[in-house]
Amino acid sequence: MSCLFCRIIKGEIPSFKIYESSKVYAFLDINPLAEGHTLVIPKFHAAKMHEVPDEYLAEIMPAARKIALALGATPDDTFQYNILQNNGTLAHQVVQHVHYHIIPKPNEEAGLGVGWPQTPTDFDALKKTHEKLAAKIESLSK
Ligand code: 5GP
Ligand code: ZN
Repeated sequence: MSCLFCRIIKGEIPSFKIYESSKVYAFLDINPLAEGHTLVIPKFHAAKMHEVPDEYLAEIMPAARKIALALGATPDDTFQYNILQNNGTLAHQVVQHVHYHIIPKPNEEAGLGVGWPQTPTDFDALKKTHEKLAAKIESLSK
């Protein structure tokens, strides 16, 4: 098995473990965007999120929540952070094992910078998109 993150799960490559359960493993990112930048990964090899079984995905966000709390999250704005998960090289994915970034945003410069190139649309275009997607998801849920 040559996958880097599978090898990290197995302990063949060292990592700074933050959290572990039977389904997920979390560790510090080697090149953090900010102090505490952590990766949560399923203990199931898949490159993309839609290939991961639900029982693994179901443990990702509870783990991310614990990590956010450990990093200092409180009900106010004192600690701010982004959760990021890239699928595909065009979408900035480098490591081909699903991973969720938990990235503290301590100030304008550190942490994740986000481009948000919104395009104004109209009601009819949204309605068409909704029809397509709603029909498709209905067929997937059966
Ligand atoms: P991606 O761009 O694929 O969403 O992010 C991959 C992340 O994995 C990067 O933030 C990178 O720093 C991190 N990374 C790559 N190789 C290693 C490694 O060997 N150990 C750790 N801890 N993180 C790694
Ligand atoms: Zn893997």
